[in-house]
Amino acid sequence: MSNNETSTEPFQTWMCLICGWIYDEATGLPEEGIAPGTRWADVPMNWTCPECGARKEDFEMVAV
Ligand SMILES: [Zn+2]
Repeated sequence: MSNNETSTEPFQTWMCLICGWIYDEATGLPEEGIAPGTRWADVPMNWTCPECGARKEDFEMVAV
């Protein structure tokens, strides 16, 4: 079995600067309609943090 080229990049984790809530690309946010495996770049621009309502621009990537 060969891997799809587009799936070889590791998933990354993002943290809300305001409340510390974590978005994990591998987990997604199914309750918000964001499927597991959704890249941060593919999260809608109008999405907001479920904890504090911050926008995407208030998030920062954290190392995993
Ligand atoms: Zn937040």
